[in-house]
Amino acid sequence: MKLTQSAKSEASQVGQWGRAWNISWLSSISTLLILTTTPLIVFYFYIACAYFKGSLLAPILFHIEGKISLFELLPSLEISTINLYAAWFFLQIIFAIFLPDMIHKLLPKYRGGTQRGAVTPGGNQLKYNINGLQAWILSHTIFFFGAFIFDWFSPSVIADSWGPLLIVTNIVGYTVALFVYFKAHYFPTKPVERKFCGNWLYDFYMGIELNPRIRSFDFKLFFNGRPGIIAWTLINISFAAKQYQTYGYITNSMILVNVLQAIYVLDFFWHEAWYLKTIDISHDHFGWMLAWGDSVWLPYMYTLQGFYLLNNPVELSTGYAAAVLFLGLVGYAIFRSANNQKDHFRQNKEIEIWGKKPEKISCEYTSLDGKLHTSNLLVSGWWGRARHMNYTGDLMLSFAYCLACGMEHILPYFYFIYMSILLVHRCYRDEHRCFNKYGKAWEEYCRRVPYRLIPRVF
Ligand code: NDP
Repeated sequence: MKLTQSAKSEASQVGQWGRAWNISWLSSISTLLILTTTPLIVFYFYIACAYFKGSLLAPILFHIEGKISLFELLPSLEISTINLYAAWFFLQIIFAIFLPDMIHKLLPKYRGGTQRGAVTPGGNQLKYNINGLQAWILSHTIFFFGAFIFDWFSPSVIADSWGPLLIVTNIVGYTVALFVYFKAHYFPTKPVERKFCGNWLYDFYMGIELNPRIRSFDFKLFFNGRPGIIAWTLINISFAAKQYQTYGYITNSMILVNVLQAIYVLDFFWHEAWYLKTIDISHDHFGWMLAWGDSVWLPYMYTLQGFYLLNNPVELSTGYAAAVLFLGLVGYAIFRSANNQKDHFRQNKEIEIWGKKPEKISCEYTSLDGKLHTSNLLVSGWWGRARHMNYTGDLMLSFAYCLACGMEHILPYFYFIYMSILLVHRCYRDEHRCFNKYGKAWEEYCRRVPYRLIPRVF
């Protein structure tokens, strides 16, 4: 699709610190590769787990030897699954739009209700309705009553529909990605915050609009933070229920994965206001990467450990399980305290970090409207040890989920491999953006804190 002249000139004015402008041939090839291979990976992993106990080699070998056809193992669409997903999806839309946040009235420490996002390259600061924790609690209450009290459905309902759901979520992911691509061209929310790089495939993949909205409905917060991530804990519960129905017991590994991942998901909802200031919401544009990623990749690849353990039950020794729990909790503590330190610092709270007044580097940046803004970079606490210790903690927790599955197969470790690639790449992507935004102040920060993820190592 060709850009109109006005879109080109609007695009050329946007501040240089948003998503990439000039796409190298390497980025074009990577985009094509990601678009074509990631859906296949999800289907392949589903087949490996559902039919081959988590072996990654067996499906392809069996296919080559003619013992089975991988195509015959692909799930098919079922009307009951479409209804199930539609009910879930529309319930989440209703919650996102209409649920008034009551929790911040009961618990003043919780930041819910109307909250503001980060200043965008166009100089806007959007308002968001933060009620995800309430939506999570209500969704789980409905599931609990429906499955265990009123017998409306089996607690294994999600596990039972896992194959057909993969088709439905793909249809949703692609439809939303196409919709926002055309919306960006024909009825954008804030035309000035669009980015066109001249390569339509990259635009489709990374997204054109920064914050596509229809009235107050925000696509990016909804898809990043509702149907997929609320379902994460329900999916795990459903896998545990299915394991119980199949074998008559629930393994300690399944409980460990449920507990560790529930901590991560609940943390997300308790800190939803903080999430508005993270890269996902403040800098990433909304395209296929987030639309398909949140609809398919997140619910299928982030819950891989539970699905693996359902088909391959592992009972861990008490010592091993305790060590994995310890690693996960330490990782979580680093992840959360690093994120809190930056969040509180950026809110200009009179805080102390590790018993001292925080050290900072003052910096300035200009938004598209020419306004000069001031900000600060934190040089104390975790942010003085390495520039992305919040990623380090996240990686430790991710590794703990994988270790909970034992050592028989590499498949459950995919999450850790994926998160390592994602977060190391993010270090470079974010630092490039921060350098464009803050210039010399960022260079000064990198000079004072020379390590990225592991102090004195990397
Ligand atoms: P950060 O929360 O680290 O945000 C990066 C931004 O923080 C920078 O762009 C800059 O933004 C600001 N910043 C950087 N250094 C400093 C500093 N020294 N002082 C003050 N501000 C600074 O990154 P993410 O948004 O990527 O990640 C947030 C969390 O989410 C992480 O813990 C990560 O592990 C997790 N995550 C999880 C994923 C998952 O799929 N499970 C995926 C991605 C992230 P500004 O323009 O405001 O200055």
